[in-house]
Amino acid sequence: MSDTSTEPPRFLAEPFAVIAEIVLALEPELAPDAVRETITALAKLKSPHRRLAETLAGAPELLTSGRPEGPASVQKLIRALQTIGAKRVVLPRCAHCGKQHNLPHLDGDQRICAYCRMKKAAQGDPCEVCGRADYIAGRDHLGRARCADHPDTDRTRSTSSETTWPRSIPASPATKWPPPSGQPANDLNITASWPWLWSAIPGC
Ligand SMILES: [Zn+2]
Ligand SMILES: [Zn+2]
Repeated sequence: MSDTSTEPPRFLAEPFAVIAEIVLALEPELAPDAVRETITALAKLKSPHRRLAETLAGAPELLTSGRPEGPASVQKLIRALQTIGAKRVVLPRCAHCGKQHNLPHLDGDQRICAYCRMKKAAQGDPCEVCGRADYIAGRDHLGRARCADHPDTDRTRSTSSETTWPRSIPASPATKWPPPSGQPANDLNITASWPWLWSAIPGC
């Protein structure tokens, strides 16, 4: 009798077989050869297969629940299985927006799409001038976030303490975003919109 305690777990030794068994238990109508080919084509190296096998061995329902957890290869596998006729597998939904987008990013242990990742990043890094987190359009010369209403007006100007940016902007039709239809954002005339801003900067 062999000592099973020294044997590696099956997901390490036979990741392809482990994944194929889980898939075929869910989708028995699929041709085993096609399933094996699909699994093999997922990655060139064995390590992603091992991670996928370990995940699915512990949580096979990730293939059918739409839960956005586990490695990105779960989504890749589901997509590939659908192309060969799988009916029961369900693509995971973004943990933030619920859409079946590609989910390359993680928020904790939940997978999210690129758009939601961008939104989340902006929320932690709001516009330096107005504090708004939506419509972050770029960064000023000090690397601080700026919304589309508050671009960095001059990258070459002194950064001394005399140059203090106003922390709040009075509402005016000229600073509304989005711009009136027919007026592209980059055509907004900063100097004309904010004469007070220029007069507040030394040397203007
Ligand atoms: Zn999303
Ligand atoms: Zn702003």
